[in-house]
Amino acid sequence: MRINLRNAKEENDQYMDIDLSMDLKSIEGVHSLKIKEPIQGKGRIYFTQDGTFLNLEAQVLVESICGRCLNDFEETLQLKLNYEIVSSKRALEMDMEEDILVVDQDVIDLEKVIIEELIMKAPMKPLCKEDCKGICNSCGQNLEEGSCNCTPHEEVQETIDPRLAKLKGLLKED
Ligand SMILES: [Zn+2]
Ligand SMILES: [Zn+2]
Repeated sequence: MRINLRNAKEENDQYMDIDLSMDLKSIEGVHSLKIKEPIQGKGRIYFTQDGTFLNLEAQVLVESICGRCLNDFEETLQLKLNYEIVSSKRALEMDMEEDILVVDQDVIDLEKVIIEELIMKAPMKPLCKEDCKGICNSCGQNLEEGSCNCTPHEEVQETIDPRLAKLKGLLKED
């Protein structure tokens, strides 16, 4: 959904409502993030004396792979966007700490905005649940699916890639 802000400002008095629906299956660059349902977003663009502002909320049902046990799981990511929309020329004059959204030629591409937000908000290492037991470092058993005979359990180490841990377990068995 692309909006020409200059036209929108002329056609709308103080604000413009946004009803966004985007059918996106996955996001390039975000590995292992699958989107299960079309993304629905609702929001408003405000045209004020102080500038143009975007408020937008969207819920995204995604399927991820757990960083510990490697199981697939679904979760809903909540996106809440609050930005001032500025031109690239104006952005140069501004403090970059501010929440700004830079647009060129007065055109804002809301799908692109949502995708960028998703890339930022998607967890680097998703977990199926906070206390996921992961994979046994010794034998490679997925401890979310059943226990193993290695006692006591070494703490699952976050720093070890679970796939490597599995490999390590396999090597040990020889
Ligand atoms: Zn897990
Ligand atoms: Zn084990």
